[in-house]
Formats: sequence, structure tokens, C-alpha cells
Amino acid sequence: MPHEDQRCHACNEGRPFPFFANFNVPADIGKLPNTPNEARQSACGDIQLVACGVCGLVENRKYDPNLIAFELGYEVSLFHTPTFQEYICGVCDRLIAKYDLKGKNLLEIGCGSAEFLSMICRKGGNHGVGIDPTVGIPSHDRCGSGSIKLIPEFYSDSHQQHIGDFVCCLSVFEDIPRPVDFLKSLRKSIGNRNVPLYFEVFNGHRAISQLEVWSIHYEQCNYFSLASLKNMFQLADFDVTNSGTCYQDDQYIFVEAIPSVTPQHVSCELPPEFNHDLNQFTTAFSSRVDWWTTKLEEYRTDGKRVVCWGSGGKGVTFLSSLPNADIIQQVIDINPVRQNQFMPATCQPIDGPDILEVEKPDVVVVTNVLYQHEIMETLASKNIECELVIA
Ligand SMILES: [Zn+2]
Repeated sequence: MPHEDQRCHACNEGRPFPFFANFNVPADIGKLPNTPNEARQSACGDIQLVACGVCGLVENRKYDPNLIAFELGYEVSLFHTPTFQEYICGVCDRLIAKYDLKGKNLLEIGCGSAEFLSMICRKGGNHGVGIDPTVGIPSHDRCGSGSIKLIPEFYSDSHQQHIGDFVCCLSVFEDIPRPVDFLKSLRKSIGNRNVPLYFEVFNGHRAISQLEVWSIHYEQCNYFSLASLKNMFQLADFDVTNSGTCYQDDQYIFVEAIPSVTPQHVSCELPPEFNHDLNQFTTAFSSRVDWWTTKLEEYRTDGKRVVCWGSGGKGVTFLSSLPNADIIQQVIDINPVRQNQFMPATCQPIDGPDILEVEKPDVVVVTNVLYQHEIMETLASKNIECELVIA
């Protein structure tokens, strides 16, 4: 049997093995530096991904949440993207219909800017509580025929009085260290009430298996597959009632669960290709870094003006992984909150797309292929002709 402290803390059976590392990467992608000097001094941390062959949990063993400023000013909302707005509206309608969320008490763990919570409260006349250290100040406001209360704290057991009829958590669980411990604590707080949960996370295993090498960033400490996500809930005494992939087919994965009435021994399940998918990722990352290093030198030689589109996690990883990222002079982002700030560590200024009409690019590097068509339309509307390359 593995030594006690080498065992997986999620399933307590497997012995996690390392498969990928990236050192000295910017820790914080949500709160951006305001000056180039601040950008140069951005907190950096190491990534060492380990995987458990029993429950499938993939996590960054070197993760230190203290390096990240989860506070007011932290901004990773995708609500500025029409593609995402349409998607999240569909999730909202589905959950309201399925769980009859009308006039109910809802809790959202990690509500961010509370866009989803506002939508589900307004549409269903629900009373929502959102708990998130980034909401700034406490507030309690009407929202349609319902209401929203925001609490600027990390969710903990001390908030259990806010567990009402439904609990949701979107794009946050992948950032919570020791995910099974977190769920066990939530399970204990729910007690013998039949409170359904909806959890949605980034489909980390899809990104790894499809060799999306820029998708690994410091802030995300867990990379779930549908199988491992379900295992986490079962290990914490929840029954998974529904699960699947969502957003642009399979960008995200979700689990709907209810507390188990009779806890029993869980047999974790993983697909047979699990190890193979992980092992090919490191090779792909190195060759992508080499390819881009050469490509950027060609652009430098040719005197090309190169900009990067997207300042989110993929953009941060892309720039900070390349030794010659200084060839990229500017980063474009449509989210106004992220504009007029700087990329951590690599220091490129972030601007809105309008600046490209004045300072025309020769090359636009798209960090997230999902928004390629939106970007092409924006460039066309501004009569900007340039080379478009996917990072
Ligand atoms: Zn495990």
C-alpha cells in the first residue's frame, strides 16, 4: 500500500503520478496589473500536474491559493461574449424548468459578478445568495420579483444557513483545492434535506486529450473529466442524477446531484485511455512552444506587427511560456474591465479592438479558437486585413 501521505486525498486509494510541469508562471489571471512595473512584479508559481489512476483527479500539486488575489477587481466573466450569454441563458431556463425554481431560495458558491445568479433570480422570481470574495461589498437588492444577497467571502461551513432549496457552482469548483473534502463539508451542511446541486466546470480532460496546450494555468488547480467529476461527488456521498458535457458541445462538464440517503462504498470508474491522454500532453506542449518560438523570430525578422487576441488564462499561459513573447506588442480583449491593464509578467498592454483601426496589425494570434469567428467578424467590420493564426 502507498505511504499514507502519498495517497490521493480524494479517493485515499490511488497514488498520484506527475505528468506535466511548467515553472514560474503568473499565478493571477483574474486581477490584472495596472502598470508595466506591477506587471513585471506579478506573483508567479509553479505547476506540477499529478493524476490519480483510481479516481482520475488531476491537480496541481504545487498550488498555493495565497498567490491569487480573489478580491474586488478580479474579473474573468465571459458574459461579454454573445456566444456565452446565449449558452448560460439556456442553462438557466433548463434548471428553472427541471427543478421548478420559482420563488425558491438559491445559493451560488463563487458567484463572481453575479450575472448567472441575477438571471436565474429575475427569471424565476427566486431569492438568491451569492458568496464570493470578489463581489466587493455586501449587498441585498431586489431582482425582478425576487432578490439577491451578495456576501464577499469564500464559502465555508459558516454559511450553511444560506443553503435553501438549490445550490449551484459554475466555473469555480476547478479552482478549489481538495475538492472531495469541500464536497464532504457541503454534504454535512445539507444534512438530511433533499437539496439538489448543479456544478459546472471547465472540461479539463478534453483540453488535455485534445492537446490544447495553453489551457493549463496556475489559477485552475483541478482538471476534471466527466468520469473524475462524477467520482468526486460519489466519494462525498452524493448521488449523481444527471451529468454531461455542455457549452460549445464539450467545453464544460456538469453534474447534477442529490445527497445520498444510504452512503455506500464507491467504485471509481475511469475510461481506459486516461493514462495515454496524459502522457502525450507534455510532448505536445514542448513542440508547440518550440514551433511558436521559431515563428515569432520569423515575424521579428520580417518586421511584422503581431498582436494577441484574448487576455484570459489561455493568453496568459501562451505568452508566459514563450521565451520571445516580447515580439507580441499588444493584447486585445473585448471585456472593458480588462482593458487599459497589462498582461502579468510579460507586460503587454491590453486594449479594446478599436485600437487596431489606428495601429493596424499584420498578424493576430487568437488564443481561444472558440471566438475565432467573432474575431474575424470584428476585424472585417473594421476593414482590417491581416493574418489570423490560432495559438
Ligand atoms: Zn484518487
